[in-house]
Amino acid sequence: MTALRVPDWQPQLCLEPLATSWLDAAGVELAVLRLDAVDRQVSGNKWFKLLPHLQTAAHQGCRGVMTLGGPHSNHLHAVAAAGHRFGFETLGLVRGDAKNTPTIADLVAMGMQIEWLGYGDYRARYNVDFWLPWKQRYPHLWPVPEGGGGLTGAAGCTVLIEAIGQGLPQLGWSDYSALWLAAGTGSTVTGLVMGEQGRHPVYVALAVPLRYRVPESVRQIVADMLECAKWMDAHCHWVDGCRRGFGRFDPQLLDFMAGFEEETGVLLDPVYTGKAILALRDSVQAGRFAPGTRLVFIHTGGLQGRRAAGL
Ligand SMILES: *Cc1c(COP(=O)(O)O)cnc(C)c1O
Repeated sequence: MTALRVPDWQPQLCLEPLATSWLDAAGVELAVLRLDAVDRQVSGNKWFKLLPHLQTAAHQGCRGVMTLGGPHSNHLHAVAAAGHRFGFETLGLVRGDAKNTPTIADLVAMGMQIEWLGYGDYRARYNVDFWLPWKQRYPHLWPVPEGGGGLTGAAGCTVLIEAIGQGLPQLGWSDYSALWLAAGTGSTVTGLVMGEQGRHPVYVALAVPLRYRVPESVRQIVADMLECAKWMDAHCHWVDGCRRGFGRFDPQLLDFMAGFEEETGVLLDPVYTGKAILALRDSVQAGRFAPGTRLVFIHTGGLQGRRAAGL
């Protein structure tokens, strides 16, 4: 029973220019940090949040990790894929009653052990003693909070700011005006704000309605985390991007995504990045950004979740 070894994997990150008719019309330039392209399986922002948790798990002598999410969760998918790839144990605590989704089938195929939590037990995930019984049952697994988040996970995302800085010369940009990204738990944006240290504003398109999460809104969770890290959210602009609710897809959204994908060749997911880009388009068309503005969009991945919308 040996502790897990922290994988020595530093995915290549690329920053690409992206043009659309609505950006051109407004004279706004956009570059995309393609976290969706880091790996087919261990995709998106999840690896960056997971790595510091793996370091802690290894330090604690654990053989693997246990974590939680919904039956379409990108987080569970990335954790299972990482465990499969790098040879550590994974346990997924899944919201709701047992059912089959393409994501669940993948998790099982990648060797993740699944426990169904129902809805009540899942809601209890914020309780301080939530992990106690699971730690008793699985003492060799390190608990990772929902979405791989918290300050630990956020700290793993500060490297994304360095990657953007390194990618600028290739775009011919000396600097950028602001960042734009989707947020769920807010951990990724917290890491970005920590990495930015106030240099650029960060626009955050929320995929969850404010106050949806008990007991605190995402905004409050981020503010708390930033307070710990001595960073204020003074540089964040919050954009309501969730439309009809978390994980709900409306025809306009799906139409917009299809058009965007045809125009750019970049695929989006319907829960986070599709909604975030649609909110960006609305802001650009509303004249929120002056001509000459240079924006960096963080493509946080999530493409495996397209299957939940039949894409
Ligand atoms: C998980 C996820 C997010 C949300 O990241 P947080 O750090 O929880 O805010 C955004 N986009 C995609 C595609 C995701 O899978």
